[in-house]
Amino acid sequence: MRLICTVKVDASRMCPGAIRTGIQRPRASTLSFGRRPNHKDEICLLLQSAQDTKGMRYNVVGNIVHIFTKFINEGKCTIRLKEPAHDLIIQADALLLKSFLRVIKLAFVKNSFEPVLKVPVLNEKYFRPKVQTKCFVTTNAEYPTLQGFPRTTQHLSIVDLQKKSFDRQILRLNQLRSLDLSKNCIRSLPVELGSLPNLAELCLAENQLGKSPPKSWAWLNGHAIKKNLITLDLGRNELRWIPPYIGKLIALRTLSLNHNLLSSLPFNIGFLSSLRFFSLQENLLDMLPGSVQRLHLETIDVSGNTFNPQGFEGCKIDPYKLDVPDLVEIAAKAVLRSRLRYGPETIPRGLVKYLDEALYCECGEACFNYHLRSIIMFDLRAIAEKCVLSMDPRIPLRCIFCSERCRYRRL
Ligand SMILES: [Zn+2]
Repeated sequence: MRLICTVKVDASRMCPGAIRTGIQRPRASTLSFGRRPNHKDEICLLLQSAQDTKGMRYNVVGNIVHIFTKFINEGKCTIRLKEPAHDLIIQADALLLKSFLRVIKLAFVKNSFEPVLKVPVLNEKYFRPKVQTKCFVTTNAEYPTLQGFPRTTQHLSIVDLQKKSFDRQILRLNQLRSLDLSKNCIRSLPVELGSLPNLAELCLAENQLGKSPPKSWAWLNGHAIKKNLITLDLGRNELRWIPPYIGKLIALRTLSLNHNLLSSLPFNIGFLSSLRFFSLQENLLDMLPGSVQRLHLETIDVSGNTFNPQGFEGCKIDPYKLDVPDLVEIAAKAVLRSRLRYGPETIPRGLVKYLDEALYCECGEACFNYHLRSIIMFDLRAIAEKCVLSMDPRIPLRCIFCSERCRYRRL
């Protein structure tokens, strides 16, 4: 019988008051139980770790002083041995540890427990403790519906299974770093996805997120995902719009929106300060938001869009007139200027939405209903080292200005 566990060996029991130098640091170990191959009457415990593959043997019969099980339900116990005077401080899965101790206790109580249980010969080959960090599900038959995914999973791939909904078991995987759900039929994602503490790569390509209602994008506004997400692929989802939350993904480095039906992008897309690879291939874009001028990219791919520089040559000034803003707009500008934290727990949801959808002038000032608009031609080579284009690198940008002064400066 073998237990994969973490063991700390305390050899300082016999020197009370002395500096406790005999305590090892906890080590990932295997603890095996059985008869020694050449001394079949001896039943022993064999403790092995990557640092000590040969292992340490402890006799069991008549050699166990006590087994401390006060915290057994938390998967912790201590086996106190007579010779050598070691305490084995063990941490493992609670259920497995309980079964392991039950077998040892039989040997501890009885000198020989042959009639109760046949003890196998100890296999002294070292088994490296296996921690499953990758999980790839490629067929429905492999799907762990009952047993769930291993809690240690860091990379999970559930591809091409035609799943219609998001499996909430995934939300329990706190160590998850990379999640690939491409080629399914998922229409919406739970808000809790935005709270997975380590999620950095998310591939949702070839799903049906374009059919999801706006409120089902709330996961993108989660505190953890805003801070940690580095790669996001939303390609081939029949998306007609992108929620403005996307502009808050401060760690995002790679964003792919290929092969969708996007005719515009959220205005704050240019606030993705970490973005380096931006792909917008095969959409219906005729302009980009003015904030893209703030990006510093390695690659941008805008091929297969319908940008039409003809007719936008020079500047076309929107006839919209700048008026005196209302009090809500003035207050909202002050909130954003002061970088005050806000959320549905402090202000009404309508106001949160209003603030999230702010537009920004090139000077950094937030604008809402009262602003000026202009269309300017912009050379994408100014923001990216490599541009993949199907036409002229000069494309039209839809720019927002907070004042006549800002617009005059730009034009
Ligand atoms: Zn301005």
